[in-house]
Amino acid sequence: MAILVLGGAGYIGSHTVYELIDAGREVVVADNLQTGFRAAVHPKAKFYQLDIRDKGALDTLFQAEEIEGVIHFAASSQVGESMSDPLKYYDNNLHGTMVLLQSMVEHGVDKIVFSSTAATYGEPERVPILESDKTLPTNCYGETKLSMEHMMGWVSQAHGLRYVALRYFNACGAHPSGAIGEAHDPETHLVPIILQVPNGKRDHVSIFGEDYPTKDGTCVRDYIHVTDLAQAHILALDYLLKGGENNVFNLGNGVGFTVKEVIDTARAVTGHPIPAQVAPRRAGDPAQLVASSQKAKDILGWKPKYDDLATIISTAWAWHKSHPNGFEEG
Ligand code: UDP
Repeated sequence: MAILVLGGAGYIGSHTVYELIDAGREVVVADNLQTGFRAAVHPKAKFYQLDIRDKGALDTLFQAEEIEGVIHFAASSQVGESMSDPLKYYDNNLHGTMVLLQSMVEHGVDKIVFSSTAATYGEPERVPILESDKTLPTNCYGETKLSMEHMMGWVSQAHGLRYVALRYFNACGAHPSGAIGEAHDPETHLVPIILQVPNGKRDHVSIFGEDYPTKDGTCVRDYIHVTDLAQAHILALDYLLKGGENNVFNLGNGVGFTVKEVIDTARAVTGHPIPAQVAPRRAGDPAQLVASSQKAKDILGWKPKYDDLATIISTAWAWHKSHPNGFEEG
C-alpha cells in the first residue's frame, strides 16, 4: 500500500516525500508541474504528471495504485495573487479539491491529510491562536483553504471519509542534506526573497508596511521549518490510519518575529548587509499570526526540531547559496 502525495513536487510536498521515504514508506507523487519541479521529487517515489482537476487522470491513478491515504498539497498558495486573481484560487484550490474528493469517494480511499493555513483565521483576536478561535479570512487564499476544510467536513458526514487539516504558519528552511529547498517562480515569500539579496539576484528587500500595530510596525509571523511540517504530515496520516477522527491542527513554533527581525537574522546568518526599503502594505496581510501548536503536540505527538530562527534561515541559506537558480540548470 502506498501514500499518494498530491503536489509532491512543490516545496512542502517534496520535503514530506523525503521524510516518508526515509521512514520506509511507499510513495506515489502526482503533480501538474505548474509550480513544482520534477527534480524535487525523490527518485524512489513513483511519479504521475497530472492535474487534480482532471478526474479521468485521477481515476486512472486510483485504479492502478493501491493507495492507503492521501496527503494533499496541490494548491495555489500566494496571498497577494489570491487578491488579484481570486478565481484562480477557487479553481485550483476548491474545484481541484472537489474533483479529488469525488475520485477518492468513488475509489473507496477515505483518509486525507491536507495543507490548510494560518490565513484561515484572518486578523486574530489574540495570539497565540488556538484551533478553536474564530476563522474570518482577510484574503482569498485563506478563504479557499477554509472552504476546503468545510468541504471535507460535509464529505466526511456523507461518505465516511476522515481528514486532518494542518494549518501551517510560515514555512521556511530547506532539507538539511541540501538536496531540495524552496523554489518559486516568481518568488513571493519573505525568507527566500531576503536571501536573493546576498545571492546577487536583487539589490534590496521591500518591507510591506511599517504602520501595523506591532512592536516595530512590521507584520509578525511564526516561522516553522519545512522538515518539521513534513513530520507533522506523517504523524497526522498515522493518526488517521489508527482510526483518529477528523481534526484540525496548527503548526508553528509559537514565537512571532517581525519582518525587520527576520531581515536582521538573515543579515547575521549571511554576513551580508541586506538593504531594506519600506514599501506600501500588501493587500490581505493580517498584522500578526502566531500559533499555539499544543494540540498537535498533545494529540499527534509532534515535536518540532528547529525552534531557532537563525538555524532555520541557515538551512535555507545553504540551499539558496548552492542552488542560486533553484532546480533550474545553470
Ligand atoms: N513580506 C515583506 N516583503 C516581501 C515579502 C513578504 O515584507 O518581499 C512580508 C509580508 O507582508 C508578510 C511576511 O513578510 O507580513 C510574510 O510573508 P510571506 O509571503 O512570506 O508569507 P505569508 O505570511 O503571506 O504566508
